[in-house]
Amino acid sequence: MTNTARPAPMRFHVDGWDPTYGSSVENAEGLDNAVGDSTARVIPDVETVTADWKPISPSYGPAPGAVLFVDGVRRVEARIWIEQPPPADRPAPVAASHYSSANAADATMALCASYAAGTVCCCPGYGAHLLMVESRRGLFTTAPNAVDVPTPAGTYRAHVTADDMEENLAVLLSSALQGSLRDLEVLVATNARTALDGHGVAGGSDLLVVDGPLRGRTHLPRALGFIKSHRTAYLPPDLHAMVAHLAPGERTPVFLMGTSWDRHAWYLRLPCTPGPPWAGVVRLECAADVPREEAVALAELSQRVLPRYAGCEYKDPRAPQNLVPVAGLERELRRRLGNSSLLARALRTAAAA
Ligand SMILES: [Zn+2]
Repeated sequence: MTNTARPAPMRFHVDGWDPTYGSSVENAEGLDNAVGDSTARVIPDVETVTADWKPISPSYGPAPGAVLFVDGVRRVEARIWIEQPPPADRPAPVAASHYSSANAADATMALCASYAAGTVCCCPGYGAHLLMVESRRGLFTTAPNAVDVPTPAGTYRAHVTADDMEENLAVLLSSALQGSLRDLEVLVATNARTALDGHGVAGGSDLLVVDGPLRGRTHLPRALGFIKSHRTAYLPPDLHAMVAHLAPGERTPVFLMGTSWDRHAWYLRLPCTPGPPWAGVVRLECAADVPREEAVALAELSQRVLPRYAGCEYKDPRAPQNLVPVAGLERELRRRLGNSSLLARALRTAAAA
C-alpha cells in the first residue's frame, strides 16, 4: 500500500495564558528534588562511623588546575494548542484536560520554550572567563504530528514525548524541557573540557561544578552537584542537627543518599556573616559509584575551592550560596535567551501563517 497524500501542515494556536504563571515553583532543583524525597535512604557511615560524626575542618592540598562552573536556564515563552487529525486516524480523546481549547475541538497543549547552558572557566592563566554557551528553542509536546516551528527569531525544534495519562501534561512537558536542558548542560560541560587545551591546565586536573543536583550527569568525571536550597532533612535528626553547628569552611562527613537516584553527598558552610542556623550551607553531591576515597577527596577539594567563589552579601541577596562565577554566567545565559515578548509575537505570526 502506498500513501502519496502529503501530511497536512501542523496547525496551532498560541494561548493567551501568561507563560510566567507558576514558573516560580517549577525551577530545576524543585523538579529534580521532588521525586522520591519522602522515601530518601541515607547511609551515614561512608567516611566516618556514625558515632564519630563531627564537623571536618578544611585540609591542605593541591588546588585543581581549573574550576569549571556549569549552569543552565530555561524560559517558557508560550503555551500553544496543536490541532489534531480527525478522530478516524486516532483513538478518541481520553483526558478532556489534555485535548480541549477554546479554539479547536481537538487540540493538544504544548510548550514553546528557550533554554541555554554555559560554562565559566576559572583558571590561573585567564582568571574567570566565559568558555562556552549554547542556546536552543524547543517545542515540547505529546502531539505525534508536531513539526519544527520556524520563526524569524529562530526555529522551535519539535521534541515529542510519549503521553502518560497518569501524569499531568504540564508536569510531563516541563520535565521534558528539563531533560533537554540537562542534556545541553552535559554537552557544554564535555565541550568545555575539550576547549581547556589551550589554557595551560594539566589534563585531568580540572574540577567541574554543576549548579543544581548532579542527577543525569553523574557520569561526568570529577564533577560536583551544588545545591543551594534545603527543603528536606535527609539525615537522621541527631546528624541533621550537627549541620547547624558547622563553622564557615567546615563540612559534614560524606554520606550516601538515595531518592529516585543515588549519590554521595555532604554539607559545607561557605563563609558568611552570622545569621540563621543554615546560613551559607550548601549540599554537594558526587556520583554514587566513585570509590569512597575519591568521594572523600572531592569533599576535601570542595572545601578548599568553593569558599573563594562565595558571593558577596552586599552585592547579591542570594549570597554566599550564589557563587560569583555562576551569578555572572546566569546573567549571560538569560541575555542569550532573547526578548520574550518578541519571541511570543514571532510565534503568534507563525501560527497565523
Ligand atoms: Zn580557562
